[in-house]
Amino acid sequence: MSTALISHAACLAHDTGLGHPECPDRLRAVMQALEGEEFQFLARHDAPRATGEQLLRVHTKGLVDGILDSLPEEGLRYIDSDTVLSPGSGEAALRAAGAVCLAVDLVMTGKAINAFCAVRPPGHHAEADRAMGFCLFNNIAVGAAHARAAHGIERVAIIDFDVHHGNGTQAIFWDEPGVFYASTHEFPCYPGTGREEETGVAGNILNLPMAPYSKADVFRALVSDRLIPALDAFRPELVMISAGFDAHLFDPLATVRLENADFAWVTQQLAAVAERHCKRRLVSSLEGGYDLGALGQCAAIHVRELMLA
Ligand SMILES: [Zn+2]
Repeated sequence: MSTALISHAACLAHDTGLGHPECPDRLRAVMQALEGEEFQFLARHDAPRATGEQLLRVHTKGLVDGILDSLPEEGLRYIDSDTVLSPGSGEAALRAAGAVCLAVDLVMTGKAINAFCAVRPPGHHAEADRAMGFCLFNNIAVGAAHARAAHGIERVAIIDFDVHHGNGTQAIFWDEPGVFYASTHEFPCYPGTGREEETGVAGNILNLPMAPYSKADVFRALVSDRLIPALDAFRPELVMISAGFDAHLFDPLATVRLENADFAWVTQQLAAVAERHCKRRLVSSLEGGYDLGALGQCAAIHVRELMLA
């Protein structure tokens, strides 16, 4: 058994326009960083398309049809000022969500120990009925719902260390005590949600906001003192990660100042949770990260730790 890497070339064909930070070169940087010799034993898979059934577990038909039926034949169509559809966006979004479902299938059936989905568009800002914040379908939420519906597990934990709060994931699972959603994020910052007092219907949401310019000491204390004990109390049957790397010092979209070693450390911490509670079952999916150099390096660091887990 090994670590699976799931991606698809169609994810490069989601065109967001000149100068947009969520660009195809992000995925190229990640895949290039995973070409080194140490990554030769990754089990590489092409992402399937998510099915309608998989998407409709967390999204409304209006959202799914609204994206897939309104793709431009050429050029770009703006959903909001920073969320864009291009001719290839529907296929990219279907493959991104499908990647996480395949990752769940591989891990839950013991065909992989853990898995990383190198996909775009990202997902954690997408709500049940609204695409926003560079996100079309909520990939990690589609995967978590798939784990519960198709594999019969009751407790899924989603840990989101992207520097932005995953408002979409939080909203989708607000009323679902079987899904524990925990986020570390800069606050105040986009999208404006993620206050500590937002705790879900049954304490199943844990928001750990960090002040602008916070460094590793703040992040590591929140993870060690708040996040890990909460995960141990929840006893997940599957650990999922919204892996954004935009809390990095070099990232242009936020001010939190984590460094490469912090992404290795948090990956180790979460892999240890998976080892304690669920036979190491862990599925991670790429969210943000907009400094191409830091993104490639940190994704490789993250995957390296998954391979060692
Ligand atoms: Zn982000």
